Amino acid sequence: MEKNLEDIFSFDEIQDDCVKCGKCIPVCTIHIVNPDEVTSPRGFIDLLGAYKRGNLELDKTAKDIFETCFLCTNCVEVCPKDLPTDMIIEQVRSDIAKKFGIAWYKRAFFLLLRHRWLNDLAFKLGWVFQTCGFKIKADTNLMSSRFNLPMLKTDRVFPSLKKTSFLNAHPENIDNGSKRKVAIFIGCLANYNFRVTGDSLLEILEALEIDVFLAKSQKCCSAPAYFTGDFDTVDSNAKFNIEYFESFAEDVEAIIVPEATCSAMLKIDYEHYFHDQPEWKARAKAIMAKVSMATEWLQHNTELEALLATKKQAPEVVTYHDPCHAKKMQGIHAEPRNLVSQNYKIVEMSDSNACCGFGGVTMQTEKYHFAKAAGVPKAAMIKNTGAQIVSAECSACRMQINNSMGLAGVQTVFKNPIELIADALRE
Ligand code: SF4
Ligand code: SF4
Repeated sequence: MEKNLEDIFSFDEIQDDCVKCGKCIPVCTIHIVNPDEVTSPRGFIDLLGAYKRGNLELDKTAKDIFETCFLCTNCVEVCPKDLPTDMIIEQVRSDIAKKFGIAWYKRAFFLLLRHRWLNDLAFKLGWVFQTCGFKIKADTNLMSSRFNLPMLKTDRVFPSLKKTSFLNAHPENIDNGSKRKVAIFIGCLANYNFRVTGDSLLEILEALEIDVFLAKSQKCCSAPAYFTGDFDTVDSNAKFNIEYFESFAEDVEAIIVPEATCSAMLKIDYEHYFHDQPEWKARAKAIMAKVSMATEWLQHNTELEALLATKKQAPEVVTYHDPCHAKKMQGIHAEPRNLVSQNYKIVEMSDSNACCGFGGVTMQTEKYHFAKAAGVPKAAMIKNTGAQIVSAECSACRMQINNSMGLAGVQTVFKNPIELIADALRE
């Protein structure tokens, strides 16, 4: 039975509802890499209940435990009681942030996410100076840090920065000669790092003769801040995006997003976040009904599948990873496969639903050892398929999977399904 948001955020009821069946334990990403009852869904639920009843102090040990959850929702998917462990952990991280503060480098990062102009400036400077701090691998668009810093570990790869962001590289209104029009919400990683995703989406919309509004004033969806407990940034960016989307919603059929995490944040987590602000919750629910993942909207609202069927078969074999924020949160898994399989052979990995181990900013910095460990099985699964390309509609998965494959010496290339589709249309 689905719970309403008020019940979810009372915590006590959630703890009483857990029947301790243990179905969540074998699928829990943190429990797999750190097999301890306290770092498991029912362990988190017990501790959260004790905290809410005043029987557990939110000390450094409790903070450390609550920060180990990957927020992957594997537990939610299998729980017979539909207990939303991820949501209550997101909530308690706000209490953690209030009590302990947020590390300076995360505050600096979230400040960038609140101001597009500052973000543009920082990434422009980053592009100019990236060769000083990073070793660039030109053939792969990846780079690794020369120094060990909180956000930058020498043993991990990052996407290199682009001279011009996606949003700054194109006009705001693109006329493809149609009566149909969509807006694009691009997400920060695709805007600054993986520009090829947005460029490919524009190519597809041009081929389908659908006009585009680039929505250049959009701000970060604020998912990185939400998962870290920085609710001030979430409040500011979410309210801005809701008002901004309302200002152009009537002019477009949909707001499409080639990113699982951003679309889940806009469509689902904004409502969760506003559970105690009823007016904003209602506005989020109304306007975010226009948001769709890119493959979802293209599959159900255009002739793209039929158009792809007229194009050549590509020689590469593809394996598809299901981002947690796409399949488990939004039910999107058939759509990218339907479209990509028109031109590529797809070989499924042994568990496409297993979390890649990205886990958010804290997991990628202070708890990087867990992110590395969680990435090992995914890299092995990809290698075992023998595919030349691994695909997922999510740039956070892309960062983590590229890193995991790099550490494991796996040569498979990562491409967003939108890039694969644009490649096929070009042939
Ligand atoms: S969200 Fe993922 S990591 Fe967190 S408790 Fe659930 S299964 Fe474990
Ligand atoms: S699956 Fe649900 S009910 Fe069972 S132990 Fe885990 S959280 Fe509790």
